[in-house]
Amino acid sequence: MEPVTIPDIIENQKRFFQSGATKDIRFRQEQLKKLHGIIRREEGFIIDALKKDMAKPTLEAYASEIAVTLNEIKYAFKNLASWSRVRRVMTTLPLLPSGSFTVPEPLGVVLIVAPWNYPFQLTMVPLAAAMAAGNCALIKPSELAPYTGMAIEELVARYLDPGYVSVVNGGPDVSKELLAQRFDHIFFTGSARVARIIMQAASRYLTPVTLELGGKSPCIVDRDVKIEYAARRITWAKFFNAGQTCVAPDYLLVDEHIRDKFVDALKKTIIRFYGTDPKESPYYARIINRSHFDRLLSYMDQGNIIIGGQALAQDLYIAPTLMDNMAVTSPVMQEEIFGPILPVITYREFPDALDFVNSRPKPLALYLFTSDNKKQDRVREGTSSGGYCINDALVQLVSPYLPFGGVGESGMGLYHGKAGFDTFSHMKSIVRNTLHYDIPLRYVPYRFKLGLVKWLF
Ligand code: NAD
Repeated sequence: MEPVTIPDIIENQKRFFQSGATKDIRFRQEQLKKLHGIIRREEGFIIDALKKDMAKPTLEAYASEIAVTLNEIKYAFKNLASWSRVRRVMTTLPLLPSGSFTVPEPLGVVLIVAPWNYPFQLTMVPLAAAMAAGNCALIKPSELAPYTGMAIEELVARYLDPGYVSVVNGGPDVSKELLAQRFDHIFFTGSARVARIIMQAASRYLTPVTLELGGKSPCIVDRDVKIEYAARRITWAKFFNAGQTCVAPDYLLVDEHIRDKFVDALKKTIIRFYGTDPKESPYYARIINRSHFDRLLSYMDQGNIIIGGQALAQDLYIAPTLMDNMAVTSPVMQEEIFGPILPVITYREFPDALDFVNSRPKPLALYLFTSDNKKQDRVREGTSSGGYCINDALVQLVSPYLPFGGVGESGMGLYHGKAGFDTFSHMKSIVRNTLHYDIPLRYVPYRFKLGLVKWLF
């Protein structure tokens, strides 16, 4: 009979893990290959679900949810045999004649809790990493993207052994029940508020956590910039998925010398991309639900609208909007916007921009647009952020070669590519001595050995 309760599912997964099946590298490769095949085959079904949840344009759904996931799976498939190998490391002199080694071992049964904004990618990429590292996984998609959540549940149930991978759909109640169980790792993507609940619950069993959070990611636009290109890249990055992206530029810090020209270029680009009535554009997504819609609308009164500002509740539509004249203490400049509203503030001198960034919590992403290499280095050295992207935005998360994660308030832990494999592994240290002979230096009586011990260390 199928397991039904959450404890049953976890018990079943623990048994599956203890069978040792997931330790076999070939098993992991086969399962990743299978997952890759399922996603390719069911691409249309997944994109449909994403459309039902938030009217994601097909290209955006494909690129950000399907392609990124397939890429990660392929990369893990190709490299996991090498990542999993026992490696010899240097042996320190006092340990001789022993040899020293490291080997990554799977953690066991892991819980993956996902948000709604990229509801497929943000469950599947962690899942691929957990599988590559040899774990069993229980996935809790977001209740705010119910069609995608159900699609994930259906596909996993149809194609994967429930002892290996299972999906439980539901909201905070289900999360609460899950968090009362013992897992070997919790991988959470979502808000800093819920992350605190997760971490507190995890402390009961000392369960390690990865927290992939968000926050306000600043975007600095220096005077030494090619305005047209910067405006295009920023407009694309901000209004992709209607701004509901953890690494979307949250607000602009623009050099006051180019402010007017730059805002002009942004306005033109918005119209070029989405037309004079973006509501009619097939390339523009909708807000996930009414409560986020209302939250976003409330920001509009906190400053002056430069372009946009139109909204339609029954369609959950908010036009791409630029704002200025907000107080830096207002909610729109304090909370993560997570929608298609882009506040523009200006700075006089470059160090002022850095001071502004440094006076706030460490962001998940920091963007700088400038051709000046010295300024690029200054920002790298003078600020701290999860990632730093120069003359572009959003793109840093598509590469499996780049670890992805926050720092401080924007999260802890990393994934994508090898970093994901490492997150879901324990790196075991091994010392191997020989039984062919025994050096008595360490044994009592110590008498005259101190000098030799000092020399050895
Ligand atoms: P959220 O924190 O509200 O929800 C995330 C998950 O936590 C959902 O599955 C939800 O059901 C669950 N949850 C909600 N309340 C809970 C509770 N009381 N106890 C246990 N679990 C609970 O986040 P969201 O609104 O889905 O997503 C938006 C946030 O996620 C933004 O802050 C965004 O920046 C962040 N985010 C980060 C990344 C990243 O990769 N760093 C990616 C996407 C989104």
